[in-house]
Amino acid sequence: MAPNNDFDLVVIGSGPGGYMAAIRAAQLGMRVACVEKDQAPGGTCLNIGCIPSKAMLDSSERFHVAKSGLAAHGIKVSGVELDLPTMLSRKDRVVKTLTSGVSGLLKKHKIERVIGIGRLTSPTTVEVTGGETRTLTTKKVLIATGSAPIALPALPFDGKRIVCSTEALAFTSVPKTMLVVGAGAIGLELGSVWARLGTAVHVVEFLDRIVPGMDRKMGEALQKLLQKQGITFQLQTTAKAAKVSQTGVTVTLESNGVSEQREAEVVLVAVGRRPYTEGLGAKEIGVELDAKGRIVVDAHFQTKVPGVFAIGDVIAGPMLAHKAEEEGVAAVESMAGQAGHVNYEAIPSVVYTAPELAAVGITEEQAKERGLDIRIGTFPFLANGRAKAMGETDGMVKMIADAKTDRVLGIHILGARASDMIAEAVVAMEFYASSEDIARSSHAHPTMPEAIKEAALAVHGRTLNL
Ligand code: FAD
Repeated sequence: MAPNNDFDLVVIGSGPGGYMAAIRAAQLGMRVACVEKDQAPGGTCLNIGCIPSKAMLDSSERFHVAKSGLAAHGIKVSGVELDLPTMLSRKDRVVKTLTSGVSGLLKKHKIERVIGIGRLTSPTTVEVTGGETRTLTTKKVLIATGSAPIALPALPFDGKRIVCSTEALAFTSVPKTMLVVGAGAIGLELGSVWARLGTAVHVVEFLDRIVPGMDRKMGEALQKLLQKQGITFQLQTTAKAAKVSQTGVTVTLESNGVSEQREAEVVLVAVGRRPYTEGLGAKEIGVELDAKGRIVVDAHFQTKVPGVFAIGDVIAGPMLAHKAEEEGVAAVESMAGQAGHVNYEAIPSVVYTAPELAAVGITEEQAKERGLDIRIGTFPFLANGRAKAMGETDGMVKMIADAKTDRVLGIHILGARASDMIAEAVVAMEFYASSEDIARSSHAHPTMPEAIKEAALAVHGRTLNL
């Protein structure tokens, strides 16, 4: 029987934005197709991003702890050895389990998976080629095609010596030396993975700080902790050229007008990602792109072409999986006449180093730039009972509140498990909490989140444990 090619919604891309939108649309009664050029669903996040990077971070952290973190707990271990092939195949298994899970979810919701490259030939027609060959007609289209790594012309990717995150998640041997260009989340996370496994990692950054989107002081504190782990940094430095040989790469670096050459076995270029619209045909049907190539949308995620929507990494905003998910759900709810909404003030971001750095809301610098009158409360994990018990005393919580209304404007956490702790901060901000609200909420003892409560108390100078 010939397939039915007529849909209420065609989603192009099955990353976290696309597949979540497809599921929500199916829940709302739409007949949905999800077009994906790769065999496995899940997009960047599941296949080559969030999930494999966290699998490698968790495995490498266990190796590092087994090697040097257990003696203080009175546990003697010897003969700890790295089995990299097993570590890599475990990561691949984790990815496979999760992408199979997404396939199952799409099936459960009767969403038609179409494998191939989707191209818009009109606002209501998507031609699929390069896999299945089909012409899909639809009432609405949601573009969720994500992003791709930015290449530097001076350091072109060759997939072997000069690589992007995808290859850096799958090196089959531990490089002796690695130069990371770009001190954002991806560069620091993958730099941490290989540093823990034995690579000498050097990070260069064009700006005068690491993790530029984060609170400056928290970023500086993280840099110091990473330096203690042996990672070296060179800020205000540009990679100008590279010469690849049989054994590695010689990179020309320039800092303050002074040039130097640096050798590395591999170079990871992690300077950001760009929206991915190749072969999509969006521009041709009238969809507007901004100067950075991002699809321009209105408050309901609709492009300049009625009925064609876009979400996730391919539009403006932080390139984060959970941001894409929220937008995907909000976009289809808007299509269905509901009040789909994303609160961009309360989208958390996390750098999964050890310790982790997590944040939601504004930084101290942003508060100053906006001329806001603020109060700041901080509390170090050194004074937190659970952190002491775990031996994880690095870092602190920093809370920024409006001086007049006491409303919490930002929470920044540098510490073990910060990625889990930030959820409390997000809920607090969603409910427009004051620092007093958090200070008066009972936090289980002994737990790391007690440091959030203490930081809230510190906003008004009333910490109890410091
Ligand atoms: P994507 O996940 O990129 O999915 C887009 C999909 O569209 C892809 O599968 C692509 O093949 C498909 N596609 C594109 N064009 C077409 C077409 N014409 N036809 C058919 N299919 C098409 N974010 C976090 O929040 N937390 C993290 O810890 C995190 N870690 C990361 C680590 C790494 C190494 C990387 C690279 C990224 C990480 N990210 C993380 C970012 C996160 O992966 C992205 O923000 C997220 O995947 C964006 O989701 P999306 O749905 O917009 O696009």
